[in-house]
Amino acid sequence: MTAPDHALKAVRGRIKSACREAGRDPASVRLLAVSKTRDSDEIRALHALGQTAFGENYVPELVAKYDGLEAPPEPLGLEWHFVGALQGNKTRAVAERAAWVHTIDRERIARRLSEQRPADMPPLQVCLQVNISEEPQKAGVTPEACAALAACVAELPRLQLRGLMTLPAAEEDRQRQREPFARLRALRDTLNERGHTLDTLSMGMSGDLEAAILEGATLIRIGTALFGPRPGHKESK
Ligand SMILES: *Cc1c(COP(=O)(O)O)cnc(C)c1O
Repeated sequence: MTAPDHALKAVRGRIKSACREAGRDPASVRLLAVSKTRDSDEIRALHALGQTAFGENYVPELVAKYDGLEAPPEPLGLEWHFVGALQGNKTRAVAERAAWVHTIDRERIARRLSEQRPADMPPLQVCLQVNISEEPQKAGVTPEACAALAACVAELPRLQLRGLMTLPAAEEDRQRQREPFARLRALRDTLNERGHTLDTLSMGMSGDLEAAILEGATLIRIGTALFGPRPGHKESK
């Protein structure tokens, strides 16, 4: 079990050296702490060290932690990101709590989130999840269908389309890790050439954050390297 201060320092160090290698400013890469399966005390401990953005991938877990940590009179004021699969009957709980959703992959879910976003909250910041390697069974819009979905989401009044997200198959080799990330970046560039203004590439996890940063990631989603391995979920995504 790594102490949270050492883990955070180590991850920040990895971000810094990858940015040095890529010739990028470390401030251009946001760190999202993926706190799924972790309890509220572990979130508080990381927050006390300056981490403000946290990601959850399971709606009941987001609801429980948000409602505990953000309750009046002393809400923590964290920025909550939803990074999991989203079903139509669970959108309201997310629309009422999250600042960001990274996993938009169909129009129906996007429309529901826009309709359900409370008027007194800022627009929901969203990324389209792209199945960039077109793996069967994998969530995400295909690269071919991405432009049509982007055009639709960009029109929804209570959503702000920020970028693309991907979750490629685990791969050990650094050079091979870069391939899907490079394709996601190229897809983002194509959309921007067609008039979008996407500023976010949500890509890179504990095992491949360097490859993602080399290919232009602006937001990396880190669980294991910050919190230690998840019990019973060696390959958990
Ligand atoms: C769990 C998860 C992560 C973090 O993965 P680690 O390998 O533990 O860093 C990132 N993104 C998504 C969508 C996840 O579900």
